[in-house]
Amino acid sequence: MQPAHAATLQAHARARSELDFSDRRDFEDARRGFVATLPDAHIEADAGGVAWSMRPYAFVRGPAPDSVHPSLWRMAQLNAEHGLYQVSDRIWQVRGFSLANVTFVEGEHGVIVIDPLQFTEHARAAWRLYRAHRGERAVSAMIYTHSHRDHYGGVRGVIGDDELRRGVPVIAPLRFTEESFSESMLAGVPMRRRAMFQFGWGLEPGPMGQVDCGLGKAVGSGRDGFIPPTMLIREPQERHVIDGVEIVFHLTPGTEAPAEMNLHFPGLRALNLAENACHTMHNLCPLRGAKTRDALAWSQYLDEALECFVPQADVLVLQHHWPVWGGARIAEYVAGQRDLYRYLHDQTLRLMSHGRVPTEIAAELMLPSALARQWFARGYYGAVAHNVAAIYAHYLGPYEGHPGQLDRLPPVQAAARYVAYMGGADAVLARARADFERGDFRWVAEVLSHVVFAEPGHLQARRLCADALEQLGYQAESATWRNAYLLGARELRQPGRAAAPRNVSISPDVIAVLPLGNFLDYLAIRVDGPKAQSLKARIDWVLVDGDSEDCRRITLSNGSLHHRPGRHGTDADVTVRTTRAQLARISAGRTALLAALDTAELAVEGQPAVLRELVLALDEFEPMFGVVDRERPGAPGRQTAA
Ligand SMILES: [Zn+2]
Repeated sequence: MQPAHAATLQAHARARSELDFSDRRDFEDARRGFVATLPDAHIEADAGGVAWSMRPYAFVRGPAPDSVHPSLWRMAQLNAEHGLYQVSDRIWQVRGFSLANVTFVEGEHGVIVIDPLQFTEHARAAWRLYRAHRGERAVSAMIYTHSHRDHYGGVRGVIGDDELRRGVPVIAPLRFTEESFSESMLAGVPMRRRAMFQFGWGLEPGPMGQVDCGLGKAVGSGRDGFIPPTMLIREPQERHVIDGVEIVFHLTPGTEAPAEMNLHFPGLRALNLAENACHTMHNLCPLRGAKTRDALAWSQYLDEALECFVPQADVLVLQHHWPVWGGARIAEYVAGQRDLYRYLHDQTLRLMSHGRVPTEIAAELMLPSALARQWFARGYYGAVAHNVAAIYAHYLGPYEGHPGQLDRLPPVQAAARYVAYMGGADAVLARARADFERGDFRWVAEVLSHVVFAEPGHLQARRLCADALEQLGYQAESATWRNAYLLGARELRQPGRAAAPRNVSISPDVIAVLPLGNFLDYLAIRVDGPKAQSLKARIDWVLVDGDSEDCRRITLSNGSLHHRPGRHGTDADVTVRTTRAQLARISAGRTALLAALDTAELAVEGQPAVLRELVLALDEFEPMFGVVDRERPGAPGRQTAA
C-alpha cells in the first residue's frame, strides 16, 4: 500500500471546502434515543468465527486520514454507531448489527418486526437486545419491506416454526419470493464475485483498506434463512390493522428493489420508506450487478409518499442509516431524495438526446448545488457516473451507438493491439509513470489495464496500475467505488487469487420452498451449449415433497433446456424422482449430480444414459474468475519478464 499522493490530498482539500462539515445534525440523529448496545456490537457466528463486529473499526475516529475521502470518513463514523435506539413512543430500532436496520413496532399484544437483518445471528442478537430492555414480548407480525437479502435473511433469528404455527403473519410486497430468488440465483455466480469488489470482501478494515459500505459498515456473515410470506400486499395502497396498529402499505415495485413497499403508520405519525430513501444517493445499478432500476418510478413513488404520508408523519424511519424527525425536515428530506432521482433521470435523458454517451454525460452532469450540498444526496453507495450509465442502459441497453463498437475485439486481444500500437509495454509504462506523478490516476488505470490484460506477468505494470487504483480508492467518496478500487489494487499486487467467499451455496430454507421450475432454470444455465448442442432428451423430473408431487417435463433441444408443467409420460426418455434434500445436494453442480447418479441415489426410470449425457454436458463455474486480469502471472504460456 502506498500513502496518499499530493493530488489525492488536493482532491480531499477541495471536498472539505465544498461541504459543510460543521453541520452535525446527522450525528445527533444517529445517536438520538440510544438505549444500550453489545460491546463493539460483537456477535459470534453459530458455526464459529465472527458474524459481526465493530471491533475492527475502532480506527474510525478523529479527523479523516489522508487515505480516505473526508465525506466518506464522515459516513464511516456515522455507520459505526450501533445499538438499540428508541425512535418514538412505540418504535425502536437496532442499528449497526448488520448492513441494514431492524425496526420494532410495539403493538397491542406483541411486536411487529420489520426487516430481520441479513443473518440469523445478527437478528437474534438484535432481538435479544430489544427484549432485554423491553421485556419478553412476542412477535405479532413479521414484515419484509423488500426482496433484498440484507432485509430478510436473518428471519430465523426472530421467528421460527412456533410463531408460524401460532399464525404470526409474514407480510411482504407482491412478487417478493419470485424476485428474491430471481436476483440471487440465476446471476448468482458473477454477482457474488462482483459483490466482493462492491463490499470489499477480503480487504482488511483500516485507514488504507475497507472503511465502510455506504449503506452500513459491512455485510458480515452467518446463517442464512428464508421464511416465505404468508400475506402479500397486492394493491397500490392497502390499509390493515396489525396487532392493533394501523398500517398503510404503499407498493413501490421496480424502485430500489423489484418488489418493495413503504409503510405508513397514521396513528403513530410515523413513515417507513423501506430502502427507497437513505442518507445517500442510492444505486440505480449496484456494482455487483442487477437489472437496472427505474429512476423515474423511484422518484414518482417518493413523490406519492410525499403527498400521501409525509404530512401525517413526525418521524421517518429508514431501513438503512438513522431516522429523520420533525415534519419540516422530513418534507425537505423526502423532496430532496425525490428530486435527486428525478434530476439524474431527466438530465441523463436530456444529454442522451444530444447524442452523449455515459462517460460524456457523467463528465457534464452536475447536481444542483443546493442538492449537492445536502449530505443525504452524496454518493456513499451510488455515484453519479455509475447511475448515469445505469439510466442510459435502462433505456438504450449497453450499445452506445457507434458502429465501430458493434464488433469490438475482446479485452485481451484489444489490449495486445493497443500495447503494440503504443510501442510496447515498457514504453507505455514510462509514459504512465509520468502521468501518475502528475496525479492523472484515471488515465493511468485505464491505459495500464491494457498492459496487464496483454501481459499479465508484467509486474511493474501491475504494480503501477495497482498504485493508480489505490489513489482512486483514497479519493472516492463512494464506499463501493473505494472498495472496488482497493480490491482491484490488491488483486493486481497479489500473485494468487483469494479464497472464494463463504455462503456460496443455496440456503436450505430456500431449497425447502424453491419451486421446481426455479431449480430447473438454475440447472439450465449450467448446460454447456456447445457440448449439449446435438443432445436431444425428454425428461420427466418429479419432485417428491412429503405427500405431494410436482412434475415438470424437460425438453433438451439445440443445447437449450426447456421445462413445462406436466409429464411426457410414456414419451419420456427418462424419469427422475428427487426429494428436496436431494435437490439441495445436487444443486452443488455436476460432480454432485454425477455422484448421485453413480450411487443410484437418484431414482431414475427409463434410460439413465440420457440423463448422464446431460449431466456430463453441465458446466462448472470458477467463483473467483479474473476481473482485473484474465490470467495470473505464472500461469503457463503467458509469462512475461517484469
Ligand atoms: Zn438494504
